[in-house]
Amino acid sequence: MNLDLTPEEQAFREEVRAFVREKLPAHIRHKVMNGLHLEKADHVLWLRTLHEKGWSAASWPREFGGPGWSPVEQYVFEEECAAGGAPRLIPFGLKMVAPVIMAFGNRAQQERYLPKIRSGEEWWCQGYSEPGAGSDLASLKCRAENRGDHYVVNGQKTWNTLGQHADWIFCLVRTDTEAKPQRGISFLLIDMKSPGITVRPIITLDGAHEVNEIWFEDVKVPVENRVGEENQGWTYAKFLLGHERTNIAGIGIAKRELARLKRVAAAERKDGRPLIDDPLFAARVAQAEIDLMALEITNLRVLSAEKEKRAPGPEASILKIKGTEIQQAISELLLQAVGPYALPFRREAMAAGWQGEPVGPDYAAPLGAWYLNLRKLSIFGGSNEIQKNIISQMILGL
Ligand SMILES: Cc1cc2nc3c(=O)[nH]c(=O)nc-3n(C[C@H](O)[C@H](O)[C@H](O)COP(=O)(O)OP(=O)(O)OC[C@H]3O[C@@H](n4cnc5c(N)ncnc54)[C@H](O)[C@@H]3O)c2cc1C
Repeated sequence: MNLDLTPEEQAFREEVRAFVREKLPAHIRHKVMNGLHLEKADHVLWLRTLHEKGWSAASWPREFGGPGWSPVEQYVFEEECAAGGAPRLIPFGLKMVAPVIMAFGNRAQQERYLPKIRSGEEWWCQGYSEPGAGSDLASLKCRAENRGDHYVVNGQKTWNTLGQHADWIFCLVRTDTEAKPQRGISFLLIDMKSPGITVRPIITLDGAHEVNEIWFEDVKVPVENRVGEENQGWTYAKFLLGHERTNIAGIGIAKRELARLKRVAAAERKDGRPLIDDPLFAARVAQAEIDLMALEITNLRVLSAEKEKRAPGPEASILKIKGTEIQQAISELLLQAVGPYALPFRREAMAAGWQGEPVGPDYAAPLGAWYLNLRKLSIFGGSNEIQKNIISQMILGL
């Protein structure tokens, strides 16, 4: 197993690095590098910039307008974008519903939806979770009744990330209440402008409006918006979750945050000595870096297997657990690095251009909210406890 990049892959890395340096707008880079809130317009601008270059749909095959990159090239691309301060591409359209439409959608659906996902013209959100159906997703209750040429949808979804901006939502709905839970589920594409849809914000620990509840009351959905067969949605849902786990380790992001941690810890404090000179603190930073390097090697092993056309298996769960734990550990060290300056909870300090009275150095103000926000990492995409169950069953055979 060769884990080194080939000369071509190395050249590709340089090309992506130069592109990000040249094309990423400075105000977006500033927000990302300092953990500030991004607006929808920031995401759209970056996606359109990538689209012009033909790079917006990094994981798509050529036949659907993607660049046809190998798994290693996709990884290098994401790593360089993260290191250069580019926003993470919102995955719901590009990485979640698009692969499902490619694999299970009909030609009309592929032609209708995929180009607008690639160009960023239409935004998607994910409608899987419900109150009482998160880890145990198959127990979902949102009901869709087949009335011939359309379904009538009633029920509730929750935790819908960026649903307030979405043009479309892909939903798991119950179309058969008699069958076993996994058998009676269908996969619907629902226009968010349909009458009967209500989006309500959920404000998270850090004071941000990132997630929502979405209510459906007698929402009419044409049958042609169903992907694949009726009652076979669980198969498509699991296929999508496999894609959701790919790249969830966030190694590029963790590397960027580690660099930020080192900058913050190297800043001079009141006593004139930077915190990184403290051997105990330096050892904790070093441990995070070692863990990250080990994770990167594991990730390269997974990618190397993919290059040899072996599908990624339950090791994606290891990547998810370790990747999210490392990001959370780095955010905790960042918090410790600024000590009491991170204590005042200042939601407004997360906005770029905030002019308030600073408490401590300006980089300290957003760190408290950043720390709180990152607690989500071990919950979404399948909680880390659920990933451990997968590892114990699929790898350890327990
Ligand atoms: C910030 C954020 C964004 C999200 N975005 C979306 C989105 O866009 N779309 C969407 O559909 N969903 C989204 N989710 C929902 C997410 O997928 C669920 O929160 C997650 O699957 C956990 O489900 P739950 O919240 O119902 O918790 P529960 O399933 O009730 O779990 C509660 C606790 O019990 C543990 N637990 C549950 N079952 C087991 C078990 N069998 N073994 C061991 N421990 C167990 C869990 O690990 C957790 O700690 C988001 C969640 C968050 C926090």
